[in-house]
Amino acid sequence: MQSNDDVELARLRLLEKAFEHSNEAIVITDAANCIVEVNPEFTRLTGYQAEEVIGRNPRLLASGRTPPNTYENMWRALRHDGFWQGEIWDRRADGSTYPKWLTISTVRDDAGGVENYIASFTDITERKLAAEQIFHLAHHDSLTGLVNRVALEAQMQSSFASARRDKSQVAVMLIDMDNFKQVNDTLGHHVGDQLLIEIGKRLKQCVRASDIVARLGGDEFVIIVQDIDNIMSVSGIASKVLRSLADSYRIDVHALYSTPSIGISLFPIDGDDAETLIKNADAAMYHAKAGGRNTFKFFAAAMNAAAHERLKLENALRDALGQSNLSHAPQFRLYFQPQVDIVTGRITGLEALARWIHPEFGFIPPATFIPIAEETGLIQPLGDWIFWEACRQLREFKDGGLAAMRIAINLSTQQLRHEHLPVVVRGALACYELAPSELELEITESTAMQNPAATIAILQQLDDMGIVLAIDDFGTGYSSLAYLKNLPIHRLKLDRSFVTDIDTDRDDAAICSATIVLGHNLGLDVVAEGVETEAQRDYLRKLGCDLLQGFLYSKPLPAQEIVAFVQDWNNRSSATRPPR
Ligand code: C2E
Ligand code: MG
Ligand code: MG
Repeated sequence: MQSNDDVELARLRLLEKAFEHSNEAIVITDAANCIVEVNPEFTRLTGYQAEEVIGRNPRLLASGRTPPNTYENMWRALRHDGFWQGEIWDRRADGSTYPKWLTISTVRDDAGGVENYIASFTDITERKLAAEQIFHLAHHDSLTGLVNRVALEAQMQSSFASARRDKSQVAVMLIDMDNFKQVNDTLGHHVGDQLLIEIGKRLKQCVRASDIVARLGGDEFVIIVQDIDNIMSVSGIASKVLRSLADSYRIDVHALYSTPSIGISLFPIDGDDAETLIKNADAAMYHAKAGGRNTFKFFAAAMNAAAHERLKLENALRDALGQSNLSHAPQFRLYFQPQVDIVTGRITGLEALARWIHPEFGFIPPATFIPIAEETGLIQPLGDWIFWEACRQLREFKDGGLAAMRIAINLSTQQLRHEHLPVVVRGALACYELAPSELELEITESTAMQNPAATIAILQQLDDMGIVLAIDDFGTGYSSLAYLKNLPIHRLKLDRSFVTDIDTDRDDAAICSATIVLGHNLGLDVVAEGVETEAQRDYLRKLGCDLLQGFLYSKPLPAQEIVAFVQDWNNRSSATRPPR
């Protein structure tokens, strides 16, 4: 007969075997959370021998990758419920980290005090990897690697949620290739597949990394453009997609052409859920097909009128710049606006401002055509022309009797980034025998603040050449002062919006005053833009501004009027020099 002790001993042995052979790692700690016992699976999984860890806090296993609030939640649950389970990232003895699924129970004595904590865990690395793979397969199109229909809807919901928060708009573009079936039927699926892959790549190049490019199936793709500030930029992207996809494709030995039809709907005006917006983009896409293919249409009719206008201007701009010699059919002209030195009262500089006079549409302001030129890349040829023309004009003004005059030219971001800028500048200066100090280049504050390292490098080259550099529209962007200090610039142009109300609005006056002090502390001249009244002039003079530009002195004038205007002005101002 077995005694009670024997029975108890046998039971303990059995439990010990279960502990020894468990395929979960087990750690038992005491009330102070010091390890009292670990099982062999623990050693196998973590690489720590029992004697290395006994008496220590399980914290030694932590990797630092688990969010701190996970541990806070864990201890709260152990105190209240006596139980917790969840995912933790730990580190093995060899330094490698791994995710584990951890279960902990609190063991209490009869009086309710904590006696032990029993924790068991398994390594879930493989399970997580498999889940990620499944997730990727389930959310991406296997041919193109683009987001698939299922994932698209989820991503659309989240982009709508953030658009609702930011009160911004989102565009849904549905893209259908016009003659894809023909390619597939005549050249086979292999070629069709390659074409789809190439289309996917081109679509990705047309948008920002944060936008979504998805394949719905067949030859249907969707682009979600987030955070739209104006509708014209959507038309800009759509025409970029049109041009990019309509380019020829080289697949195996075949040169293929395939144009898209694009339908566009907008969140929130054309719908506020994924299904409605795709349905409406689809309807617009059918209109695009019916309208002759290789085109895009908005769902809302009013948008089409605006987009049509934009496209018309874009094509007109292409035509105007395509003319073999711009100076023989000058749809573009430069006007010049004087800059007046506040101390001497003399005109010392002229800002060149582009004008476009279209034979059919008439006068188109730069605020309209410069953004289109920038979006389409046409700013490159246009900017080159402006640059050469401004230098040519200055030569002509000097020959006509204007002395000590500097010409200021506006540069857009793409021109500044283009590697040939220093070559163009050197070429034009040499060609028209101008000194570098007679040339001033204006870049806007937002251009300057994009990609700081690249900006500094290029400005440094221009500064080394002796060219005067100005930050335009200062105050409208977000300058980092630390960075401004490192830019090799010579002038700040205080934006017109602050000058307008300088004598009536205390905030604007404060901004002007602070900018002038800042500029002077950095050793820069400050030019005020948009000075229209004597009150503004007097205020700016009191603040110590260096140069003034605005309608008070003159509107931008055509080249043939500027020489006489400046000579007349400077003659009069030397007779009556105003006090500072
Ligand atoms: P910006 O460089 O800040 O040019 C100053 C603008 O303010 C000009 O407008 C000028 O006519 C206007 N302005 C000057 N004084 C006054 C004033 O007293 N009152 C008012 N209400 N306006 C004044 P514009 O010529 O229409 O040019 C607008 C913008 O277009 C320019 O702003 C510049 O950003 C861009 N732009 C013009 N020409 C060129 C160019 O050749 N290249 C580039 N990249 N951009 C240009
Ligand atoms: Mg300017
Ligand atoms: Mg400006």
